[in-house]
Amino acid sequence: MIAITGATGHLGLATLNALVAKTAPAEIVAVVRDPQKAAGTLPQGVTVRTGDYNDPATLLAAFQGVGTVALISTSELEYDLRMRQHQNVIDAAKQAGVRHVVYTSVINPSPNSPFGASPSHFATEEYLRASGLTYTILRNTLYLDIVPMLVGEGTLPGGRLYSSAGEGRVSYGLRQEMGEILANVLTSAGHDNQVYDLAPSPAYSFHDLAATLREVSGRPVEYVPLSGEEIAASLRQHQVPEPFIGLLLGMSEAMKNGEFATPSATFEQLLGRKPTDLKTYLAGVYGK
Ligand code: NAP
Repeated sequence: MIAITGATGHLGLATLNALVAKTAPAEIVAVVRDPQKAAGTLPQGVTVRTGDYNDPATLLAAFQGVGTVALISTSELEYDLRMRQHQNVIDAAKQAGVRHVVYTSVINPSPNSPFGASPSHFATEEYLRASGLTYTILRNTLYLDIVPMLVGEGTLPGGRLYSSAGEGRVSYGLRQEMGEILANVLTSAGHDNQVYDLAPSPAYSFHDLAATLREVSGRPVEYVPLSGEEIAASLRQHQVPEPFIGLLLGMSEAMKNGEFATPSATFEQLLGRKPTDLKTYLAGVYGK
């Protein structure tokens, strides 16, 4: 059996939906922390088990009879908590007799990255490698789906796109397609102890984002590079919470440093078709 953690999250659900097209639902265990949230949202026929990353006993019970666990990284932000949760999942998998863990990491994980999640992804990879389990690591780039958040949700605000990412480029991948890739990896052979960089080509700068937004919306959009301090001051004026400001500035600095700008053919190979590109995605959100 294959167990997916974080199954009620966006990536978990995308993975489950792709998985039921490839394997019998009876072979799939959706591990959720809140079974109420799972009701009515998960594909028919999959087994739902409760597993909280903070509660090792629930994870051990959830992994009984499971051969492969897909560990979807936690949505928590704080390093120690993230590490404890990921370690709980890996330890429980080992204790339950699971053979293989697939982990969703980040592209170019580093203990020194300004991107908040990167150091814990780096350390989780190390922990998984040292666990003795066989593993596959999917190093996911930033989701295309976060671009509207970078631009401003809903409509284009004032025709201006602000960032402290400078001239940095980013390879974006559609979350739905990352779920499909995860499902493909879970249902095919040859992935033991492999590390895959999932960052499709090309990588785009904020100038490219602005140009594509102009093209698909027919409205004027200009990229205005700002410093991190200027962005932070503006966000504080709008009462944006400090943890979010820290996350955004760290991510922008990592963008500026090129951490998300190492595209490769692996995404397309594992997906089995051309990935959705920026223009197609943005046309769906902001199209005329
Ligand atoms: P998401 O929708 O927030 O899903 C996160 C999942 O983690 C949710 O299902 C959540 O459960 C589960 N979770 C959190 N704490 C848990 C706990 N204590 N026990 C069990 N499950 C717990 O995020 P996503 O879009 O699917 O992305 C998956 C992961 O990728 C995120 O968690 C984050 O680590 C990372 N991420 C990547 C990007 C990117 O651009 N590449 C962007 C954002 C996040 P509930 O459903 O009950 O909330």
